[in-house]
Amino acid sequence: PRKFFVGGNWKMNGDKKSLGELIHTLNGAKLSADTEVVCGAPSIYLDFARQKLDAKIGVAAQNCYKVPKGAFTGEISPAMIKDIGAAWVILGHSERRHVFGESDEREAGITEKVVFEQTKAIADNVKDWSKVVLAYEPVWAIGTGKTATPQQAQEVHEKLRGWLKSHVSDAVAQSTRIIYGGSVTGSNCKELASQHDVDGFLVGGASLKPEFVDIINAKH
Ligand code: 13P
Repeated sequence: PRKFFVGGNWKMNGDKKSLGELIHTLNGAKLSADTEVVCGAPSIYLDFARQKLDAKIGVAAQNCYKVPKGAFTGEISPAMIKDIGAAWVILGHSERRHVFGESDEREAGITEKVVFEQTKAIADNVKDWSKVVLAYEPVWAIGTGKTATPQQAQEVHEKLRGWLKSHVSDAVAQSTRIIYGGSVTGSNCKELASQHDVDGFLVGGASLKPEFVDIINAKH
């Protein structure tokens, strides 16, 4: 059984006041113990979020550069993220690829091709799959209010799990969480969560609102 995983991606939103209020709400809410919860904070607020959020809620950076330190103006390293007590980082988000020109995104031909190629690009370098959560976020669903149907999400997640099975291993395919992102809300999360291969969510807009709690508890 894969533990349900719900990530909030705050993107470039919030300030100390509003994020402080959101954190206060999350800390006081009744969150399912069967869900792993992680909040992705802007790098300047990572330390703030880690200090204020309850220890049971994880903190993620929204991007990082691949080396521990050096002359890379404006970047943060995995070591720095770890140093402030955050255990996660979102990598390869489509906004990084599209707005900031990061690689491993080809012209959208068909879904499978894009998803498999992006997964292959990381799979070759993953040493410990227990530390990886894969997020499928159809670009047309991000911030648009157009959510994939539960069937559409299930279909891609199932294919992605199949890809892991044939290119990595059956054990990794069975244990790796594959989560869905793209206009997830308090009202559509339950049906999506009921799909066999949907192991959680990566939530943008709704992660900044109290309804994030409903999404965390989607399975219950
Ligand atoms: P929205 O939930 O705002 O569509 O954003 C999804 C997303 O990109 C999460 O990483």
